[in-house]
Amino acid sequence: MNILVTGGAGYIGSHTCLELLRRGHDITVVDSLVNAQREAVKRVQQLAGREFPFYQADVRDEEALETVFAVGRFDCVIHFAGLKAVGESVGIPLRYYDNNLNSTITLCRVMQRHGVKRLIFSSSATVYKPGVPMPADESSELGCTNPYGWTKFMCEQILRDLVVADPDWSVVLLRYFNPIGADPSGRIGEDPTGIPNNLLPFVAQTALGRHKELHVFGNDYQTHDGTGVRDYIHVSDLADGHVAAIDYAMNHTGCEAINLGTGIGYSVLDIVHAFERVNGVKVPYVISPRRPGDVDAVFASPDKARRLLGWEARRSLDDMCRDSWHWQSMNPQGYGR
Ligand code: NAD
Ligand code: UDP
Repeated sequence: MNILVTGGAGYIGSHTCLELLRRGHDITVVDSLVNAQREAVKRVQQLAGREFPFYQADVRDEEALETVFAVGRFDCVIHFAGLKAVGESVGIPLRYYDNNLNSTITLCRVMQRHGVKRLIFSSSATVYKPGVPMPADESSELGCTNPYGWTKFMCEQILRDLVVADPDWSVVLLRYFNPIGADPSGRIGEDPTGIPNNLLPFVAQTALGRHKELHVFGNDYQTHDGTGVRDYIHVSDLADGHVAAIDYAMNHTGCEAINLGTGIGYSVLDIVHAFERVNGVKVPYVISPRRPGDVDAVFASPDKARRLLGWEARRSLDDMCRDSWHWQSMNPQGYGR
């Protein structure tokens, strides 16, 4: 198949591109590089042993997108492009709403014009209302606490409305839980700018000595050891989930929200201890106050993904910790800026 990948230079996008190429699909990538490096695209091409068209363009740029669609005849689109930093979205909400909503609307408009009506959309577990009973399944109540989350919530609604208006469309809304890890080659991985907000990059950089210690945000949660519990999923499992979602979208119409998680929750200290054990490194930490907005535990019901997509996560926490460290230790400065 021929697949357009927006945001394909990013963390999840680059791993999914690699998996698509490994399975023999043709791909075209559009990415503005607002949060990625061209080097990631180069490395995906090296790992797959194949070139593919790459356009440095903003998905909101309708003319640029028209050019891309005029050249390629796509069976399906995966739309990863988006800004994703929760904290930043609180400070600059308009930038987040503009980027995430307008990229989705522009993309759909151009797809429609070219008769391409199969779309896989990157949504997030953050659309679930804080405090809903766990595991969260796709019918759990929705509601967000920050502009980033609302952009995902609103894009989901826009896409649902699009499918109601034109039932030829097939849209899969993939709600990711906490992607971590990297391709086992150690050549591609997560490369956050500045000080990482997310747990795993911070843990890996602390093991490298780039930070004195990890701040564990709270140890008085209602969890087995008091620290926050999340559903961490290997990014290569997520990539496999996208391949399964494409197969599904090619054979069904309508709009489905589907969780991509493991169904297993690990605490912050579970992660620290596994990381130290698997990699033979030290991750010094201190207990710090809770981070505002955090909840005790978030983990997925993976049943719908198993039922509809025939997909489930296969990689273990040890795999995730090993591959995160492999990437970080081989690329201490990420892709280098
Ligand atoms: P990422 O920032 O690494 O990748 C996103 C890519 O989109 C980047 O390469 C960026 O340059 C590009 N981009 C952003 N806006 C663009 C635009 N208007 N036009 C063209 N390119 C643009 O993030 P990621 O972790 O790979 O996430 C991919 C998607 O999954 C995002 O939509 C994100 O919100 C969503 N998601 C991520 C997580 C996570 O924890 N990583 C969790 C849930 C959902
Ligand atoms: N966390 C932490 N220290 C950090 C970063 C994160 O203790 O430096 C905790 C955080 O409180 C949460 C878990 O790790 O319980 C996962 O946080 P992350 O930001 O990676 O994901 P999210 O909270 O968005 O699910």
